[in-house]
Amino acid sequence: MSQRKSSGREKPAPRSQPPNPSDTSCAHARPPEPAADRDDLLARLREANQKLITAGLLAQEQAQAAEMARAEAQQRAGELDAVFASMVEAVFVFDAGGRVVRANLAATAMLGFDPVGLDRGDLISKLSIRHPDGTPVAVERLPWDQALHGRKAGRECLIVTSAGGRELAVLATASPLVSRGSIVGAVAVWHDVTEQRRTEQALREQRDRAQLYLDVVEVAVVIVGADERVLLINRKGSRLLGYREDEIVGRNWFDSFIPAEARDEVRSIFRELMAGHVGGAEYYENPIVTARGEERLIAWHNTVLRDKAGRIYATLGAGEDVTERRRAERAREEFVNLAAHELKTPLTTLKGNVQILLKRGAHDEEEGRLLRVIDAEANQMAHVARTLLDVTQIQSGHLAIERTRLDLAALVKGAVAEIRPLASRHQVTVAAEGVVPVEGDRERLRDVLHSLLDNALKYSPHGGPIQVTVRIEKGEAVVSIADHGIGIPKDQQAQLFQAFYQVSPMVHPTSGMGLGLYISREVIRRHGGRVWFESVEGKGSTFYFALPLAA
Ligand code: ADP
Repeated sequence: MSQRKSSGREKPAPRSQPPNPSDTSCAHARPPEPAADRDDLLARLREANQKLITAGLLAQEQAQAAEMARAEAQQRAGELDAVFASMVEAVFVFDAGGRVVRANLAATAMLGFDPVGLDRGDLISKLSIRHPDGTPVAVERLPWDQALHGRKAGRECLIVTSAGGRELAVLATASPLVSRGSIVGAVAVWHDVTEQRRTEQALREQRDRAQLYLDVVEVAVVIVGADERVLLINRKGSRLLGYREDEIVGRNWFDSFIPAEARDEVRSIFRELMAGHVGGAEYYENPIVTARGEERLIAWHNTVLRDKAGRIYATLGAGEDVTERRRAERAREEFVNLAAHELKTPLTTLKGNVQILLKRGAHDEEEGRLLRVIDAEANQMAHVARTLLDVTQIQSGHLAIERTRLDLAALVKGAVAEIRPLASRHQVTVAAEGVVPVEGDRERLRDVLHSLLDNALKYSPHGGPIQVTVRIEKGEAVVSIADHGIGIPKDQQAQLFQAFYQVSPMVHPTSGMGLGLYISREVIRRHGGRVWFESVEGKGSTFYFALPLAA
């Protein structure tokens, strides 16, 4: 601090009087007392002193702040050390030369030794670091080496062998350590993915094996995920569609492979399945569109796939190309339909004419017998034609039912009366309670009764009683027809209602076409009813059917 000089700068003191030339004292010659200057000086001194005090305080404050910063930095470093030590990932710090200068506990535990001091080459050889496919890894490919050279290091999966000989898969990443603009080292983090990789590999193997099995089967297998995308398709499926597997997987199944006009319906079936409503959607047929733009009809058997928690995450469909089969079936149906219709007209004429001749009376007994044979055979042919028509209608889902309100008891009695002339060796009885009202197709129900009564006669060749009952039971009309015939072997009972099924001819020498029970069951089902039977081989059978009572 400099002191200011007062001389030369001070203003002359103001004169109160003009100088007197006769005054010889020198008092007036002395410079006047500089009172103002002193005050000023004092003020300046006080100011300087204040500044000194302030500066001292400031210095003290600065020292305190520096101390606090140092303590804080120390605490940070301690925290970082704790984080470093407690990380489950192995962390390595490299110096600019690529030497390990620090490694955390996880790193030591993972490797089975302390890697500090090893350089990049040592690390590769000591841990025999290699790529997952077993090929050796070049130093420059190591993420920490890339980071040291200022290149962006990606995540690299590496296989290393620990000191104990354990093979580990690690996912390594690294970033450079930068100080004042230059790279002074790198930090590498290794994540142990051994278990994960093992599980993935096991899953992949399982998937490959499953795909292998799926590829040898002769049905198309398609798995569609909740987002409607294809998760898997087997070889048969890709061949059917005419695309490579990788061109199908990941694409939206409905938008890519289902013709536009069928899309909504097929999608709604898929949604039903995904919602867990499997019944009904288990089996269905729908067209698909191939790479060549051709439509094929596929019959699918569906099931759903669930995750561990039981949630549905995909549907699996096993499909069979039924295009040709359905085409052939349609052609056959059309032909049978046509043939049956063509037969009906001449048969009706034939029957009508025979009836006229029979009414007129035959010339002799032989002629009468011949006419009756023609009549019976014409009836049989008409029955065959009707049966064929019924079967084709059932198989195409077009069995027509014309309901009217009728008395089932009266219908049963009528049918029994019609077959009685043919049952010379049997005693046919009917027990019916009053009126049993049902809504039904009179002609078709009559056919059902005829089929069951015919069978009862046919399969009790030695005659015996045939008891027919009609009763009301729990709101249903129940008809039973019991015979005391040959019965049905237990092992053949399950298939009895299948089309064309006949009990083995060794057991049942008399038989028809194996269609009567099949058609009867369909007719009763279409009325909302059911058919069943009880039978003991050698003792006889009882066939039942139940229909809902009319309101
Ligand atoms: P079919 O025209 O051959 O009689 P159905 O469909 O009416 O055809 O019957 C199928 C088979 O069931 C018959 O072939 C016969 O073996 C057996 N069946 C049907 N009804 C009886 C019955 N009442 N007693 C014993 N077997 C029967």
